[in-house]
Amino acid sequence: MNIILLGPPGAGKGTQAKRLEQAFAIPQLSTGDMLRAAVKSGSDLGQQAKRVMDAGELMPDDLMVQMIEDRIQQPDCANGFILDGFPRTTEQARALDEMLARRGTKLDHVIELAVDEEALVERITGRYSCANCGAGYHDKYQTPKTEGVCDACGSTEFKRREDDNEDTVRARLKAYHDQTAPILPYYRDQGILQKVDGMADIDEVTRQIQAIVEGKR
Ligand code: ADP
Ligand code: ADP
Ligand code: ZN
Repeated sequence: MNIILLGPPGAGKGTQAKRLEQAFAIPQLSTGDMLRAAVKSGSDLGQQAKRVMDAGELMPDDLMVQMIEDRIQQPDCANGFILDGFPRTTEQARALDEMLARRGTKLDHVIELAVDEEALVERITGRYSCANCGAGYHDKYQTPKTEGVCDACGSTEFKRREDDNEDTVRARLKAYHDQTAPILPYYRDQGILQKVDGMADIDEVTRQIQAIVEGKR
C-alpha cells in the first residue's frame, strides 16, 4: 500500500502518518524529518537544508527525489509506505510516478487534508514534540495526558522546530500555494485523489483516512 498525505504545513500529515504507520504496519517517510536529521548531523546537505528551511523555501527537486528513491529501496518499504511532505512540486510528483513504475508498483491513495488557512498558523506555532521519541503534541489540541510527560515514552523533554515561527510559516504557506498545490490537479486527473476534512478532530480525521485506505469510501 503506497499512500501520499498531501496538505499545507500544519494540516496534520505527520500526526496522521504516525497513526497509519501503526494501523497498517508500513513506514512513514517524512522528508522533513530526513532533512532535520541531516541538519543535526552537520553534513553539507544539512547545512544547505538549514538555510532553506529557515527561509521557509523548498530544497531542490533532484536532491529530494534521490532521497526518496534511496529510502523506498530499504527493506521496511517492501509492503509500501506513507509519504509525508513529499512530493512537494509537480516535478517531484512526476519523478515519483516514474520511480514507482520502474519498480513495478504505483500509488494507491493520494489523500488531501483540506484545512482552513486561518487555522494553520495557530496549529504550527503551538506544535511541539517529545525530544526522546518524537511523538507529536500541540499546546491546545493535543496535550499529554499528564502535563509535561510524554504519553508514549514517559520522557519529560520536549522540543519545538526552529522553523515553526510565524514569519517562516507565512513563507512556507506561500511555497505551498505556489509550488505544492498544483500537484492536486495532477493526481485528480489520475483519479487517485481523495479529500478528507482536516478541520475535524484528530480521531475523526484518522477514521476518514482509514475508511479510504480500507476501500470503504
Ligand atoms: P503537518 O505534518 O501537516 O505539518 P502536524 O501533524 O505536525 O502537521 O500537525 C500540526 C500541529 O497541529 C501539531 O501540533 C498537531 O498536534 C496539531 N494537529 C494535527 N491535526 C489536528 C487536528 N485535526 N485538529 C487540531 N490540531 C491538530
Ligand atoms: P511541514 O510538516 O510543516 O509541512 P516538513 O517537515 O514537511 O514541514 O518540511 C520542513 C521543510 O523541509 C520545508 O519547509 C522545506 O524547506 C523542506 N522540505 C521537506 N520536504 C521537502 C520536499 N519534498 N521538497 C523540498 N523541500 C522539502
Ligand atoms: Zn516520547
